Amino acid sequence: MTTALGALPAAQQPEWPDRSAAEQAVTELRAMPPLVFAGECDLLRERLAAVSRGEAFLLQGGDCAETFDGVSADNVRNKLKTLLQMAVVLTYAASMPVVKVARLAGQYAKPRSKSTETRDGVTLPAFRGDIVNGFEFTEASRVPDPHRMLRAYHASAATLNLTRAFVGGGFADLHQVHSWNTDFVRTSPAGQRYERLAGRIDQALRFMRAIDIDAETLRKVELYSSHEALLLEYETALTRVDSRTGSPYDVSGHFVWVGERTRQLDGAHLEFASRIRNPIGVKVGPTTSPDDLMALAEKLDPDREPGRLTFVSRMGAAKIREALPPLVQKATASGLVASWVCDPMHGNTYEAASGHKTRKFDDVMDEVRGFFEVHHGLGTHPGGLHVELTGDDVTECVGGGDPIAEDGLGSRYETVCDPRLNRTQSLELAFLVAELLEP
Ligand code: PEP
Ligand code: MN
Repeated sequence: MTTALGALPAAQQPEWPDRSAAEQAVTELRAMPPLVFAGECDLLRERLAAVSRGEAFLLQGGDCAETFDGVSADNVRNKLKTLLQMAVVLTYAASMPVVKVARLAGQYAKPRSKSTETRDGVTLPAFRGDIVNGFEFTEASRVPDPHRMLRAYHASAATLNLTRAFVGGGFADLHQVHSWNTDFVRTSPAGQRYERLAGRIDQALRFMRAIDIDAETLRKVELYSSHEALLLEYETALTRVDSRTGSPYDVSGHFVWVGERTRQLDGAHLEFASRIRNPIGVKVGPTTSPDDLMALAEKLDPDREPGRLTFVSRMGAAKIREALPPLVQKATASGLVASWVCDPMHGNTYEAASGHKTRKFDDVMDEVRGFFEVHHGLGTHPGGLHVELTGDDVTECVGGGDPIAEDGLGSRYETVCDPRLNRTQSLELAFLVAELLEP
């Protein structure tokens, strides 16, 4: 008999003040249509299998925490533009397919290292993401409200609907490669570099047209959704048995991952992830031992199925060159088929003198470089990049070619959780990775 998920310890779950309201919300969620389809999850698993074989590269990015207020056409479009531009830069350099997965349409729950937050001598419960409580620093807003799970579902549905329209309805057409480069980016060095690359792509497209190739595949993009599977009541309420295969899928997103704070081997999060058929990720940090890694693989991918498991390493720039090799070596020696993806954000966070949580762009770049060095040294495939970014001109990470100084962080610091790369910094990072990827 399998253990009920509820019998296992589940870290980082809210305590709803009103249990019956939570049960009511879960009942309503269970009746809602799926946000994604099982067949799409299977297709993504196949795409990720190519990543694990070294034949494709994964680009995964989006907000640290989406917000209900952020569900607007401009916000979603700007993030998609940024991802599309990054993907073009990477595809052109790597001459291999780039699998595009957005941290979008479901990234509403946040794990916290501290359960309270203190400001000016006032202590309140920490913000746990819009799916749980409000960001506003008032007692009322920080009370967990289970009705927010339904709002998260609807916000995800609206975001995904818009995303599907954008990527299928002509916006992602490769012939639009110039139009994704907005004016402010066009005036930055990374934007100008992008313009030159877009010009070369245009030329290639004209050549293809001249010889009568006008492939339909250039007009559409395959883009998948992803988020951390953190709030288990929400994720289980959206888990459905697929009528084609009889297997359970978490239909809240195509790809879900288990975070650094919830990957306990005997915990409910890994148990949940082990039971769904979606492609899944797990974060691995500097304290992960080779044995831990093998135990994670055994739990999440006992059949060693290509595309099933992605390790997202988040070591920190100072540690990656020492911490990653023993893990990759162990995985290789044991014949694992997992993909390796670099999250250069979460090991490089610090607090600036102004009190803003930030990251240095140089540290982010350095961790990415370290990630490639490790894989090149071991002869393994640096499979992808997992980043926190936004399509707007925010000032949350320090540095970059259009440099943001620590004392300038306050001018457009808009994140409700971790600092994100802005549009220009994201594009710069893509160019760096492109150089590292060049065959
Ligand atoms: C995140 O991806 O926002 C996150 C909390 O990451 P980690 O679990 O790696 O700390
Ligand atoms: Mn984060």
